[in-house]
Amino acid sequence: MAKFIRALAGEQHNIRIVACEAKDLIENATIKLGYPLTVSQCYGRALLASFLMAKLQKEGRLSLDYHCPDAMIERMSFVAGSDVLKGAILKADDMQILEYTSADEMLGSGQMTVVLESDNGEQFSSQSSLQTADIATEISAYFQISEQKPSVVLLSVHHDGREIVSAGAVIIQLLPNPAEEEIVKLEAIIPRLKRFSQLLEERLPLPEVVTAILGEDLAYKIIEESDFNYHCDCNRDKIEQALLALGRAELEDIVKEQGEAELHCHFCNSFYHFNRDDLRALISEIEK
Ligand SMILES: [Zn+2]
Repeated sequence: MAKFIRALAGEQHNIRIVACEAKDLIENATIKLGYPLTVSQCYGRALLASFLMAKLQKEGRLSLDYHCPDAMIERMSFVAGSDVLKGAILKADDMQILEYTSADEMLGSGQMTVVLESDNGEQFSSQSSLQTADIATEISAYFQISEQKPSVVLLSVHHDGREIVSAGAVIIQLLPNPAEEEIVKLEAIIPRLKRFSQLLEERLPLPEVVTAILGEDLAYKIIEESDFNYHCDCNRDKIEQALLALGRAELEDIVKEQGEAELHCHFCNSFYHFNRDDLRALISEIEK
């Protein structure tokens, strides 16, 4: 189980903090999806970023998409919300090549798209062009430009060549109209930020990691502490809907040419098999 905390700091509670520790989650997800350890760094950082970004929303779900046409990882997509946390690399060079590439070289220039979807289906989408290959820098820029909230974003996934040794993330966000002394206190934490990965590797409990980053001067109050896990929201019903959306003619072609269909969920590596009878039943559903 991965750990999450939400906290408030500053006299006016003007500083919001969300943090997570997720070594086992990232390890299990990358093993399940068959990604090499090198890829788990880009993938894991973006997955944890999407999780914490969703936690900063009051409700709904958030999706984070990377599209880097000339990079080794061309497309990756992440979705987080109360009932889902999933991510997948949708288009990339051969994983065997990526295994011998450093994480910094995998992403490149391109576009990052953040879509916020409220519980009643309203969507707000924001697109930014990627200036660096550093996911934390790009997400910090997103908060500054799209939401006008200066934010410190720390994302860390490390491996020792054999396994993941640490994974975690923190977002510290300054709400509008901060007191001058809060800005000063927040600036004082900057030299400590580079210790984040090391603190995670020492396996300190998450609140102690946050305390070590914020320092003694910036007291904070934890308002939520919970466990979370990777959770793909695919199911046979949704896959059937996707098949129905192909239309009658195309389904009949599949029956004629292949006699069956197997659909794969890239987010959890599940396979859904539909035999001839299943496909015929779907066709007759369209005919109704
Ligand atoms: Zn799935």
